[in-house]
Amino acid sequence: MSRVDPGALAAAVEARLPLADRLFEAIREATADTVGVTRPAWSDEDERAASIVGEAARDLGLEVGRDLAGNLRCTLPGADRDAPGVLTGSHLDSVPTGGHYDGLAGLVAGLVALASFRDLGAKPACDVTAIGLRGEESVWYGIAYVGSRLAVGSLPAGELDRLRRDDTGRTLAEHMAAVGVDVDALRAAPRPPVSSANTRAFLELHIEQGPVLVGEDLPVGIPTTIRGNVRFPYARCTGRYGHSGATPRAWRHDAALAAVELVRTLDEFWIEREADGVPDTVFTVGKLYTDPAHHAMTKVPGRCDFSLNFGGTTKAFLDECRDRTRALAGRIGTERRVEFELGECVGSDPTPLDPGLRDRLGKTCASLGIPLREFATVGHDASIFARAGIPSAMVLVRNAHGSHNPDEAMDLADFSEGTKVLAAAIAGLAA
Ligand SMILES: [Zn+2]
Repeated sequence: MSRVDPGALAAAVEARLPLADRLFEAIREATADTVGVTRPAWSDEDERAASIVGEAARDLGLEVGRDLAGNLRCTLPGADRDAPGVLTGSHLDSVPTGGHYDGLAGLVAGLVALASFRDLGAKPACDVTAIGLRGEESVWYGIAYVGSRLAVGSLPAGELDRLRRDDTGRTLAEHMAAVGVDVDALRAAPRPPVSSANTRAFLELHIEQGPVLVGEDLPVGIPTTIRGNVRFPYARCTGRYGHSGATPRAWRHDAALAAVELVRTLDEFWIEREADGVPDTVFTVGKLYTDPAHHAMTKVPGRCDFSLNFGGTTKAFLDECRDRTRALAGRIGTERRVEFELGECVGSDPTPLDPGLRDRLGKTCASLGIPLREFATVGHDASIFARAGIPSAMVLVRNAHGSHNPDEAMDLADFSEGTKVLAAAIAGLAA
């Protein structure tokens, strides 16, 4: 890109905030539900959002199109059209009655960056594309990142006909066809549209879905790693029901106390590892319940069901979580005369984000006077591009009240700071 003055670029981003505001409002209105917004993947609603952004991109003089899977692509052409391009963006879909900025903020930020380059008359050396991905939320088809997997060709063949939308029962292929995707052409495509050969970087801006930036009063954070996880979704402890008043301790097989001891001991293990300096770990017991058909205040519980969910940034920590859980379940089961069936163990490996890109984003923060805060994040489309061998990184923007709910709250001023960081990094990459 013809050299862009960082101060001028920041001012250009600022001047384009009305465009962002207008897009956010138009899409909110077009996809409103009883509360919040609902944009199912490959539906009329995410199609409407894509059309609104696409129209704005056309007005800016950008090249606008769809890849074969129906992901939106808005491109500012580079001087060398064959050089590997820069890709930025996030997802168009939302969860049912979800928040407005989850995903959408990343696509709008990408568009604002491209608009700012145009306003400055800056011609990038390579194509820069803002992408609106579909099917990121797992609630629709049971798996996450469907649009980005299709973009890099990592969705196994057959999934188009196997995956069914949770609420309609119709297949992904059927829903795609209903919004105009040429599914036969997608199936027959010789290669995916995005690869490490044609893409030099993927940068994703996303609202933070946790409390860190709000808590520390910072507008922007730079993720280090997309956490991996180890999960036991359907664990169970089986003991024996008994009369609460008539059963002395020595005759008890109390499933609830055993399960509670297991989760309490795992909580202690988590605290220990944190004290040891293992960074960015999480542990959640999202479900823990006795059987309502049989439980009673006056019964020793004979069964307790629960889930365990560990997250971390290293495979070593996650392996230890799994092994520790199994060992503890064995010991506590024997001591308390109950049986733990932990069920299937599922999970994903951590995905480190690209150190070079993170460094670039960090330096940009410094030049804009934004304190650098780095921490691990949850799963995002960026993980799919990273696993496809494309250097990937992210910018998180402060957002109150978490996400996947209508109360998400992102200030346009924070969005502006995040977009300045994103735009400056893209300018450097496309120089
Ligand atoms: Zn999201």
